[in-house]
Amino acid sequence: MLLRPCAPTSRGSRRRLVSGLPLPSTATFVRLARRPVPRRRDQALRAASTANVRHEQRAIRRTDGRIRKRAMRPAFPAVARIPYPVAMISAKRLRAHVEALTAHGPRFEDLPGVAACLRYSTDQLSAMGLKVRVERYGSELHQVNLVAEIEGGTSDDAVELCAHWDTVEVSPGADDNASGVAGVLEAARVLRDADLPARTIRFCLFGGEESGFDGSAAHQAFITAQTESIVFEMIGHTAAHQRIPDELSDFLEAPERGDFIALVADERSQDLQTRFARHLEIPSLPLILPAFAEHVAMRSDHVPYWDAGRRSLLVTDTADYRNAHYHRADDTADTLDYEFAANVVTAAVRTVTELAQ
Ligand SMILES: [Zn+2]
Repeated sequence: MLLRPCAPTSRGSRRRLVSGLPLPSTATFVRLARRPVPRRRDQALRAASTANVRHEQRAIRRTDGRIRKRAMRPAFPAVARIPYPVAMISAKRLRAHVEALTAHGPRFEDLPGVAACLRYSTDQLSAMGLKVRVERYGSELHQVNLVAEIEGGTSDDAVELCAHWDTVEVSPGADDNASGVAGVLEAARVLRDADLPARTIRFCLFGGEESGFDGSAAHQAFITAQTESIVFEMIGHTAAHQRIPDELSDFLEAPERGDFIALVADERSQDLQTRFARHLEIPSLPLILPAFAEHVAMRSDHVPYWDAGRRSLLVTDTADYRNAHYHRADDTADTLDYEFAANVVTAAVRTVTELAQ
């Protein structure tokens, strides 16, 4: 996960970015996103607050008349029973993957962790009987994506499950993002025996996320327009406390505990978000940001998909809004909650299975 949203100059002319951070809410934001956005950001925030208050006042009249601020609480799914085989995702295996991936230090440029990680991931996927393709996007050793797939029977339009394998220079990156890579590997293990799906299921391990989504951006040239993706970006950390971006605090109360998984979509990708949330058995925070706040989520590999007009869902524990080890040398395997991660990966497997039918 990038510390700051990628600058608009390197992302094309997608949108103006304000000084940035990630994360925020659900229904309120969906409503707000459809309102005209005032030109200046402070006006926009004021309008958002006013709209929120109006909404609450209506809600209050409908109920008991008590005034209370609308809290942003992670939602437990009302329906989470799946008509698909329940994947046996193993927390123990996830831990073993994270330990192996972090054992050789940071996965940055020409450091030894890079080759070790690429070798480990290739070996794991190959041992499952999957053919691993190297998608090279530069001449340096580290400028590679690893791609493996279960070929679909009737459609080229793949469903992709993705995570970046690289780290910043100083961190072994257990949560950021060995957790995501471990999730992809473990999902591949349980999906590899899937009956021939209608759509191809593709597993993507991207390089270059920390330098501005280089790998996932290059990947866009290899895929069809209808390809959609789920991006794991830090899925392993839970904490007693949770923060949200300052700029959203005027009209949202932060959930107090960092025990939910955030599902960030744009409007186009809302279907992915709805499906994923339905398949979760832990609290989730589905977010669709209005245009004026979207920049806070522009920090991972879903961005090139959105830029290319493709559907993509960001699945994240919210990075530095929860994890005190973010981008530090102490982002280590012993700081993760593997049962939590296993729940996230299970929901992803169910979602991918459903989408690939
Ligand atoms: Zn990062």
